[in-house]
Amino acid sequence: MNTHLDISKYIELRHEIHKHPELKYEETNTAQLVAKILKDLGYVVSEGLGKTGVVGLLDTQRPGPCIAFRSDMDALPIHEQNCIPYKSTIDGKMHACGHDGHTASLLCAAEALMQRKDQYKGKIKLIFQPAEEGGAGAKAMIDDGVLESPKVDMIFGFHNRPGFEQGYIFAKPGSAMGGDTSIEIIITGKGGHAAMPHLACDPIVVAAQFINHVQAAVARQLSPLRSGVVTVSSIQAGSRKGINVIPDACTLTISLRSDSLNTRNLLVAATENALKSACISGACDYAFNVLLDIPALVNDPKATDIAINAFKKNFDHGKVEKIDYMPTMGAEDFSFYLEEVCGCYFFIGNGLDSAYLHNPHYDFNDSIISVAKDCYLSLADSLLS
Ligand SMILES: [Zn+2]
Ligand SMILES: [Zn+2]
Repeated sequence: MNTHLDISKYIELRHEIHKHPELKYEETNTAQLVAKILKDLGYVVSEGLGKTGVVGLLDTQRPGPCIAFRSDMDALPIHEQNCIPYKSTIDGKMHACGHDGHTASLLCAAEALMQRKDQYKGKIKLIFQPAEEGGAGAKAMIDDGVLESPKVDMIFGFHNRPGFEQGYIFAKPGSAMGGDTSIEIIITGKGGHAAMPHLACDPIVVAAQFINHVQAAVARQLSPLRSGVVTVSSIQAGSRKGINVIPDACTLTISLRSDSLNTRNLLVAATENALKSACISGACDYAFNVLLDIPALVNDPKATDIAINAFKKNFDHGKVEKIDYMPTMGAEDFSFYLEEVCGCYFFIGNGLDSAYLHNPHYDFNDSIISVAKDCYLSLADSLLS
């Protein structure tokens, strides 16, 4: 698209952010960098939303809608194994999900949008949020008012997708990514001697029954036309030293994925029912704690059409596609915004050979910074011109 900016500046910026990864809610240096760039470009900047989030506002002073574009800024507790000049300088931390690239892309768009502001009406809000990786940073920013004053009418954002051709843009209306519910279960029995189980209430046997029964939740209770996963991700009880001891408690964690709120509620109830019946038969008590609840990501069909049509105006039609399958059960906290405001979360291919997200060999594909920038411009052109 017709803009006068130097993309290489934003590639270098991406590399700078990549070198200095910051984990969830610790993104202070990245946030400062983002805020400075936005201020220099002429945005009205708010800092400290959702602890370390930054917002840039462009107000054209002409009546019109307020649209928001969102990037995440946090890195992951993974030790980078790439041999690249801009490799992470911090052991055990790296940008393995491409949030460095999402941030550089939105800053690149920020410059291009500012250049074109005279042709727009309404307002543009650029949201740089913390803690997408299991910290519900989107929720924290919403709680701090990011969708208010001015009230956001529509919101858009993207995630890069390894395994898809670089620059291929796609979106799905309706359920597009999984909901993520993390549950902790504590089964409490009565400890005792391993040789006298009749005098104890064994929480390990109860846990084993529960683990078997809960597999039927997806297989037998969920419609085969819906998507869900219940994974028992950890189990801890007793110790190797206490080989002749029945422990008094067993703790499990569950990662539960769902394609909608209905599926989430059905599977959570089925999980607790399986637990309850195992505990009754084994004379144990339980605690059932939901630790984290990221809703399924549900794109507004109208906003998805707006996005796809806007992209098709500026890209080869073969590079843009509205898909009808759910591309992943992975979760994304952009879903919190979509519970409040109509919008669309789309994907841009990171390359067929790209290592997958959260892999120590993953790296964001710099060539898609320009693609993402043009996606944001297409949306502003179509909604604010
Ligand atoms: Zn991630
Ligand atoms: Zn991510």
